[in-house]
Amino acid sequence: MTKITEIEVRDIRFPTSKELDGSDAMNKAPDYSAAYVILKTDHPDNIEGYGLTFTIGRGNEICAKAIESLGPLIVGQDMDSIISDMRGFWRSMTGDSQLRWIGPEKGAIHLATAAIVNAVWDIYCKLEKKPLWRLLADMSPQELVSCVDFKYISDALTPQEALEILQKNESSKEERIKELLETGYPAYTTSVGWLGYDDEKLRHLCQKYLKLGWRHFKLKVGGNINEDINRCKIFREEIGDDCTLRIDANQVWDVEEAIAYTKRLAEFKPLWIEEPTSPDDILGHATIAKALNPLGIGVATGEHCHNRVMFKQFLQAGAMQFCQIDSCRLGGVNEVLAVLLMAKKFDVPVCPHAGGVGLCEYVQHLSIFDYIGVSASLENRRVEFANPLSQHIVNPAVLKDGNYLLPEAPGYGAEFNSNVINQFEFPNGSEWVNS
Ligand SMILES: [Mg+2]
Repeated sequence: MTKITEIEVRDIRFPTSKELDGSDAMNKAPDYSAAYVILKTDHPDNIEGYGLTFTIGRGNEICAKAIESLGPLIVGQDMDSIISDMRGFWRSMTGDSQLRWIGPEKGAIHLATAAIVNAVWDIYCKLEKKPLWRLLADMSPQELVSCVDFKYISDALTPQEALEILQKNESSKEERIKELLETGYPAYTTSVGWLGYDDEKLRHLCQKYLKLGWRHFKLKVGGNINEDINRCKIFREEIGDDCTLRIDANQVWDVEEAIAYTKRLAEFKPLWIEEPTSPDDILGHATIAKALNPLGIGVATGEHCHNRVMFKQFLQAGAMQFCQIDSCRLGGVNEVLAVLLMAKKFDVPVCPHAGGVGLCEYVQHLSIFDYIGVSASLENRRVEFANPLSQHIVNPAVLKDGNYLLPEAPGYGAEFNSNVINQFEFPNGSEWVNS
């Protein structure tokens, strides 16, 4: 028996806006931040669960406060009971009748849910002494299905269908684990193409990442069209035609504008246009997808898609050709599993959103498991990579030749180094007091 005895919440912010790392058409100067949860237990080895939800600065305190409000739902719980009824646990976190009024399953309260649920999975991994991907890969199809809340999605995916997807992959799981242990999971990088970078920096970074073995890239667009054409041109000059390009507008356009604008960038052969319009506009995305399909450009979205119900509708409407789950906007691992399984049924590749802080460390586990247990395919699947902050994480994601190497440390992987709280807690950490 391992009991969760205490919850600690920290508002951690890194001053990334100083260098314009992370700048895009919507988010001009983000300070990558985490509402960070530490769940303490009575385990004799002092096991603690670390979890976070990601924000870009102001408002992080609201997520931290929401985590505190959810705290009484988790403190005092026993891990054995949670593990034996994962679906019930997840429902208890999202189903408090008063707290769900400020969601339900969306906004700050759902971001907060993600931080806690992720921390609980971190404890589960540590009890089993496995990294998350391995914990999931070792679970039986029945156990995995029992983690998923099918409420509101059973018209698109039934528990039986989910079970069949998982069962079909069961006998060949070990082959895929072996393959990934050798090669790693493929990634693309956004680090070359933040909108705030000038031409010279873009050229320099293209050359640098090419030399490091990267072949798959993403550029931010959606500012001035002529500047975007120029940026795409520079990118193709430096990178050549063999490498793949993705473009990301971060929600800045209306639907018709998105179509017109993307058509002007079609000559640079982007694989997808990401977040072309409001992340809530499912039918708008479907219209854009239909218009761009003849040009061979897909629509990618999901980093601001707040729950499995929205993903269901995006998939049903043919509104996303690339499914970009976010490990901290969906309500943690349980809800991610629901979306991985739905995406498989609709035959849409999952390419998680990452970057920020801690997101690369999280989503690597999710994609690795997706391949092992759910999709059994790497076609068109790549995890985003953009991580200037790995120095603050105890076990940062490790990449080689543009692939994520399989993490080995037990846990879900978002534990900060011990100095981070003293240095970066807002507003009293040394970095903020002195700025
Ligand atoms: Mg994006």
